[in-house]
Amino acid sequence: MEIRIQDLVRTYSSEGKQIKALDHVDLTIPANRIFTLLGPSGCGKTTLLRCIVGLEVPDGGEIYIGDELVWSKEKNIFVPPERRGLGMVFQTYAIWPHMNVFDNVAYPLQTQKMAKEEIRRKVAKVLDFVQLSGYENRPATKLSGGQQQRVALARALVAEPKVILFDEPLSNLDAKLREETRKELRSFLTELQITAIYVTHDRVEALALSDLIAVMRSGKIIEINEPKKIYFNSDSQFVADFIGRANLIRGTVEELDGDHAVFASEIGPVRALNSQQIPLGQEAFLCVRPEFIRLAKERKEEQNSYSGKVETLIFIGEAFEGEIRIGETLLTTTVEPTADFREGDSIAVSFDPDHCFLLAS
Ligand code: ATP
Repeated sequence: MEIRIQDLVRTYSSEGKQIKALDHVDLTIPANRIFTLLGPSGCGKTTLLRCIVGLEVPDGGEIYIGDELVWSKEKNIFVPPERRGLGMVFQTYAIWPHMNVFDNVAYPLQTQKMAKEEIRRKVAKVLDFVQLSGYENRPATKLSGGQQQRVALARALVAEPKVILFDEPLSNLDAKLREETRKELRSFLTELQITAIYVTHDRVEALALSDLIAVMRSGKIIEINEPKKIYFNSDSQFVADFIGRANLIRGTVEELDGDHAVFASEIGPVRALNSQQIPLGQEAFLCVRPEFIRLAKERKEEQNSYSGKVETLIFIGEAFEGEIRIGETLLTTTVEPTADFREGDSIAVSFDPDHCFLLAS
């Protein structure tokens, strides 16, 4: 089910100051996709999620869930949370420690006073789906973090919501479990064909899990795109830097050539993608992701090839993290673990014109 948000505003007052948690947000969340709200702490992600659920009352704007208007100040409409048909999974799984798995999952149906047999059937189906069949009588406290997270998911799904919302649901899990659960969650949600709205400040989680990512900053949505597009050709410096490691180099557009431009920069001329069509003579930034920087012993005559020096190499297991100096400019790179370079080596540095892009300054 699609969710449409129009001109949503939420302002808080704190210590005499006005905080615009949501600053005129317009947004359409398409049906049956995994849609992530990503942004730094305090940018308004949770406030937006809580407004959609109905736990927070906005100051202005409208929210539609499917065709139903669930919030409008002007039209005096407020559909309470329990009638919005949404499921929610929180950071603290909010499962009840004094109940076993069955009772935790059955709770939303019991409050609807559903027949016992039907409750049993629905709980069995959803526990099977999250691979917890056989755990019905296990006390919630005797489960691992990942299993508790799946109980929370089962409880959110059991009432067959139209939309499911997640607020940083994996942040209490350790790194390895978080990776596994992320994969599992993506396959659950894809199989269910349900609209999912997911809040996180973890860029890798957003990239790995989402069909679409909306990046937020200071109460505003500043870019919405598919993970690959947002990573490989971001719209702004803020997004480029937030979504991944980025080398940003200042310069001026010197020549235009279709999708590309030649960019005069402090490392020399660079041919790069110019999707934003930044005009001739304008100052801009070049963004090169560390993993696209190639190092070699000898410099070849090719585009975007420069002479540099290895400043630092730090071993991180799967690779080295390197710092390469070209003149006054330091670039971070990822160097494969088998590479035969040492700190202080003179090297050739290059990157493909299709794997670097210009950003308006
Ligand atoms: P985080 O990732 O840290 O959870 P967030 O992006 O979810 O952050 P919100 O929790 O939506 O951000 O908060 C947005 C802004 O509104 C922040 O500046 C926050 O301090 C402020 N804020 C949120 N709730 C309240 C409140 N009840 N009273 C006053 N200010 C609030």
